[in-house]
Parts: sequence; C-alpha cells; structure tokens
Amino acid sequence: MKKITIAIDGHSSCGKSTMAKDLAKMVGYVYVDTGAMYRAVTLAAMRGGMFGDDGSLDTERLKAAVNDIDISFRRDETTGKVETYLNGENVEREIRTIDVSQHVSQVAALPFVRERLVAAQQAMGREKGVVMDGRDIGTVVFPDAELKIFVTATAEIRARRRFKELEAKGMPADYDTILENVQQRDYADSHREVSPLRKADDAILLDNSELTIDEQREWLLEKFKERTE
Ligand code: C5P
Repeated sequence: MKKITIAIDGHSSCGKSTMAKDLAKMVGYVYVDTGAMYRAVTLAAMRGGMFGDDGSLDTERLKAAVNDIDISFRRDETTGKVETYLNGENVEREIRTIDVSQHVSQVAALPFVRERLVAAQQAMGREKGVVMDGRDIGTVVFPDAELKIFVTATAEIRARRRFKELEAKGMPADYDTILENVQQRDYADSHREVSPLRKADDAILLDNSELTIDEQREWLLEKFKERTE
C-alpha cells in the first residue's frame, strides 16, 4: 500500500488532534500536532517576559530568541502518548492552559515564527506516512498532500468539548471564557496576513458537530482507503 501525506486543518477545538492521532494509530502513521509547536513558542515568549502587561508582544526580542527555541516530541513509554518538549522540558500540560491559548494567535501571526515551524514540519513529513494537524497544512506546509480534510463544528459545541477536556484533566475552566477564546482565535486565525486559515480547494469539508467519535473514525478510514488503495 502506498504511503501518503494526510493534512487535517480546521477551526480551534473541533477535535482535529483527537481524530488525527486516532487515524495515525490505526494506519501506523506518524502524528504531528503543529498547534503544539506554536503553543510551545508562545510559552517560551511568555516565560521570557516578552508579553507586556497590556498583552503586547515584543516581537524583536522573540525574533532574536526564536532560533534558540528547541521543540521536540517524545513518546511517554508508560502512556504511549506523544508529548511536547521545549528545550528538553516536558511542557505538554502547560501549553494547553487558557493563558497560552489567549496568547498563541499573536505569535502564530508572525512570519519569522511560521517560516521556522513550517520548515521543521516539512522535514518531519518528508518521508510521507504522516498525519499532520493544524491550520495551514493543506495550503502551505503540504499543498500536495494526497488527503486533505478541513474540519469544523459550531463554536458552542467546540467550547463545550474543550471545557470537558480541561475539566477531565483537572484543569480550571470557565465555559464562557473558553467560548470567547474559541471565537477570537477563529477570527484571528482566519484574518491574519500570513497563511490565514482557509480550506484548500481540494480539501474535503467535515462538519463533525453531530458526529460521534465512532462515526467520524469510520468516515476517516473510508477516505484513507480511497486514497491509498
Ligand atoms: O491546534 P491548536 O488549537 O492547539 O493551535 C493553537 C494555535 O496555533 C491556533 O489558534 C493558531 O493560531 C496556531 N496554529 C497555526 N498554524 C498551525 C497550527 C496552529 O497558526 N498549523
């Protein structure tokens, strides 16, 4: 069976990473969470005091520091889960906080950040056999991907899912704050100048508002088979 590249793009919190992870596991592909990379750079900027009290970002300082930010993924041997590392430190939990979610769009809009992360993502997918999720995978990172999916769901359903996810992890969450963040990120991601979020012309649209995980899995596997057989 030929190996392909699978690009999963779409709005915030619509379960892209769950479905990408799940698909990668089923078909034996490598999964890459590109949002985690933008989140890790954001965390580095926050820790480095690059955000002012008014929320503004010192982009010159980040530009000078960006090449020293090392992001990698490692599998936890006990849980089998792939986790994100920032300069050798496991930051998987910290990058998912609402604080990071509220700062990430600003960092992701910077051309020098995108340039660096896109190059790293292209290197990770060079051999194909990869499922990558993000916002610009089918349009910029792998415009030739054999299977492109663009996922969406209503903002309210996405906020409810993210709320439950954080709650289950024992992390503090407030539904209204999450909903506002989801809507703000949709707007910022779709309106930024560099690589705005948009559906690639050849991507298949999947609105999973009313789909169960099992129904979604079946749908995905069918699309995968169509492209590989
Ligand atoms: O996927 P996730 O919600 O974790 O992504 C966090 C943020 O990173 C997004 O809101 C978006 O601003 C940015 N991002 C991006 N391009 C990607 C992946 C994520 O701009 N390929």
